[in-house]
Amino acid sequence: MSTEITVEIKNSLRGQGFLSLKDGCHFSVRIVIPAGQMTKEFSTKITEISEKYGRGYFTLTQRLDVEIPFVKYEDLDLVREELTKSGLIVGGTGKRVRSIHTCKGTVCRFGLYDTEKMTKDFTERFYKKYYDIVLPNKFRIAIAGCKNSCPKPQMSDLGIIGRKLGLVGIFIGGMNGSTQITGKEIAGLYTLEEAGDVVERAINFYKEHGEMGERFPKMVERLGFELVEKELIKQI
Ligand code: SF4
Repeated sequence: MSTEITVEIKNSLRGQGFLSLKDGCHFSVRIVIPAGQMTKEFSTKITEISEKYGRGYFTLTQRLDVEIPFVKYEDLDLVREELTKSGLIVGGTGKRVRSIHTCKGTVCRFGLYDTEKMTKDFTERFYKKYYDIVLPNKFRIAIAGCKNSCPKPQMSDLGIIGRKLGLVGIFIGGMNGSTQITGKEIAGLYTLEEAGDVVERAINFYKEHGEMGERFPKMVERLGFELVEKELIKQI
């Protein structure tokens, strides 16, 4: 007899990187690909898992991650185990810091800093280290190498944008989805190290002052942009 997949089970799995499909019985397994950099080893493993447990293909998400659709509920633990053993990260969902969205700024002719390095550093510092820290809601970070804003930093909870060689501007309070809000840029330009400290302060401020379920931009609206801005840039 097959296990009934209740709404509670689906909600819990969603927070772990397993998204239930509309057919009600299969899942998409989301895999975080830091900086969207797909190696031969990763793509081979993901293809193998897609063939073994899914329907032989995977898709790319808007944030440069991967999803393997049509995995059965009873295979989810095995899939996670096999992917994790190969160094891949199953996740990128839930009320936490999400996988970091970025652009090709490292190689793009317009790029003003090494976006790939910043994304990998942020993945370690904010995605992995903060993974078990429950936030009021998801927290999305986007990193753009220049003002062309390919990954739409103005539409993320926190967005970084190259302004001058090695110096960035920081937007807070943007949102994309059923509600769209354009974030506002906080005062000043920041070195890459300083930008990391602002991000850390924003996450902790959100954890402390956000209400359960409240998105970061809504918290900024409630408390006022100036107050949040002041908190984020003090001591920088
Ligand atoms: S945001 Fe700028 S640096 Fe990044 S890919 Fe677009 S044009 Fe290139």
